[in-house]
Amino acid sequence: MTGRPAPRNLVTPATKVNLGSIDFDAITRRGWAVIGLCVMAALLLGCGKGSVDQALESDANGYLCRSCKAKFYVDRQIFADFCPACKSPGIDQVVGFVCASDSFTTVGPRGRGSMRCDKCGQPTSGLSIPRAKDLQAWGAAKKNRKEVCGS
Ligand SMILES: [Zn+2]
Ligand SMILES: [Zn+2]
Repeated sequence: MTGRPAPRNLVTPATKVNLGSIDFDAITRRGWAVIGLCVMAALLLGCGKGSVDQALESDANGYLCRSCKAKFYVDRQIFADFCPACKSPGIDQVVGFVCASDSFTTVGPRGRGSMRCDKCGQPTSGLSIPRAKDLQAWGAAKKNRKEVCGS
């Protein structure tokens, strides 16, 4: 019984087609390996993308009014047109400036060079999108669509 071929339990009958010198079994096995790698890569990328999205996405949009300095924020899907306090359209969307030494997020208008950490006074080194709790800590009041949008 030494000449018996090794059992091929993993190969389904449909893949045992042998046309000429082409080894379909080997191709199929390689195909599955490639598919497996693709699925793994997709899963890994999917997970990675999710965490990146989480880091970049916020649950709120924060604003600072240039006229009356009112601080406010709205739900993520709402983009304010004007200040809810003085109705001025001169509002700046705010971002978070992250301190390297204590990770504290200082909220301030986007585009300003560098902010000093509100907590320790060191210059901040990173940017983040502030979340509702950061905006609340900053002193922003939550507004609804009617209060900040014309239509
Ligand atoms: Zn205002
Ligand atoms: Zn700090």
